[in-house]
Amino acid sequence: YMPGQAEQGGGGAAPDFVLVVIQNQTEQRRLERMRTDFVANASHELRTPLASLTGFIETLQGPAKDDTDARNRFLAIMLEQSGRMRRLIDDILSLSRIELKAHVQPAEKTDLVEIVRHSADALAPLARELGLEVHTESPDTPVMIRGDRDELIQVTENLLENALKYGSQGKRVDLVVKRQETGGKHWCLQVRDYGEGIPAEHLPRLTERFYRVDVASSRAMKGTGLGLAIVKHILTRHRARIEVASELGKGATFSVVFAGELPHQESDIELALSVP
Ligand code: ADP
Repeated sequence: YMPGQAEQGGGGAAPDFVLVVIQNQTEQRRLERMRTDFVANASHELRTPLASLTGFIETLQGPAKDDTDARNRFLAIMLEQSGRMRRLIDDILSLSRIELKAHVQPAEKTDLVEIVRHSADALAPLARELGLEVHTESPDTPVMIRGDRDELIQVTENLLENALKYGSQGKRVDLVVKRQETGGKHWCLQVRDYGEGIPAEHLPRLTERFYRVDVASSRAMKGTGLGLAIVKHILTRHRARIEVASELGKGATFSVVFAGELPHQESDIELALSVP
């Protein structure tokens, strides 16, 4: 559009060029919908324990005021419900923290073997409580990869915790660090259980937020439905891939494949050995 044209030509002059902006809003709309769905689901999930808490408080103020037995029972349930709210809030915050870093690949080095040992130790009490044995299998030397230790511990613990909770009909759970079977180039972290398994139609959706195969059993197991969503987000940032294989009645195997490997340096080994 030529400057001064309007003054000379008097109102009706056609502009010399028109800039047309065509924006593909489909992807943006999809992301917005995902965000609003997440807020709606999170609010709904939080409302359930909150409604229960309110109900018990009202009962304790009124009808059960002088009933010591009922009071003790109700207080125990209230503690459980507030624990559920805390777990949901913790997982929602974890997820949003990881999302903020989604495009930043971790720069530090970490030892996969140490992570696996640490996670097995951390979940030993739950395994004992459920009557399961955790079999760990890993190389004797450190396996250095580029990654965030705390985040990869969270990945391992979420997968191991699921294997223990949903695979409790089996007698054992395997936690393995090994070379990938095909080609043997990349390192692979595998968590295998011998429980009921997961029906095939659910496999593609497992890492969606709040997706659960069986809501009742997830709740009974203190699940939030966010564990595998957190795992997926951490692994995306690590450029690692997750694969799930399952056969009904025989269990499930979750495999994480790390694309990059670092050369074994003396300093790496020292670093790994110095971790208690
Ligand atoms: P939750 O907090 O419910 O455990 P997750 O995101 O960790 O949520 O897992 C999503 C769902 O996937 C679970 O509710 C469960 O139904 C199913 N699942 C996950 N791991 C296993 C497993 N090892 N065996 C059977 N089902 C599983």
